[in-house]
Amino acid sequence: MSETNELYQQVILDHNRKPRNFKVLEQPTREQMGHNPLCGDELTIYLELEGDLIRDITFQGSGCAISKASASMMTVSVKGKTLAEAETLFREFHQMVKGELDPETAPNHLGRLTILAGVREFPARVKCASLAWHTLHAALEGKSDPLLIKE
Ligand code: ZN
Repeated sequence: MSETNELYQQVILDHNRKPRNFKVLEQPTREQMGHNPLCGDELTIYLELEGDLIRDITFQGSGCAISKASASMMTVSVKGKTLAEAETLFREFHQMVKGELDPETAPNHLGRLTILAGVREFPARVKCASLAWHTLHAALEGKSDPLLIKE
């Protein structure tokens, strides 16, 4: 196993065991549910927005280790960011897991999220990793219907 794969495994295990920001927000500005029927991952994202800023973000739900770890890492990455910065991260993350952006060669803002680039090698897992991000994207667009990942 390569060093990258080992790190990938460790980070996923760690976030799965101790998910960050794993709670319900009592009075969220926005609340969005996301569902990945292929794997059975379900989560709800709670956002507290203040003007253009993501003041707080939490999530709840159940699913596989990758979906949970990715949601946990997503909340850590976008907390305190502006809506535009969060949208940029969404776009870059999505491109990375689909193999369209190589974080080692292309300029990006992903930081620690690049650890999840390993998911590219497991096409069935890409939807698990991107569920939280698609759900965040829908929440930022002000959608209220539950989001179903199909693509
Ligand atoms: Zn999954």
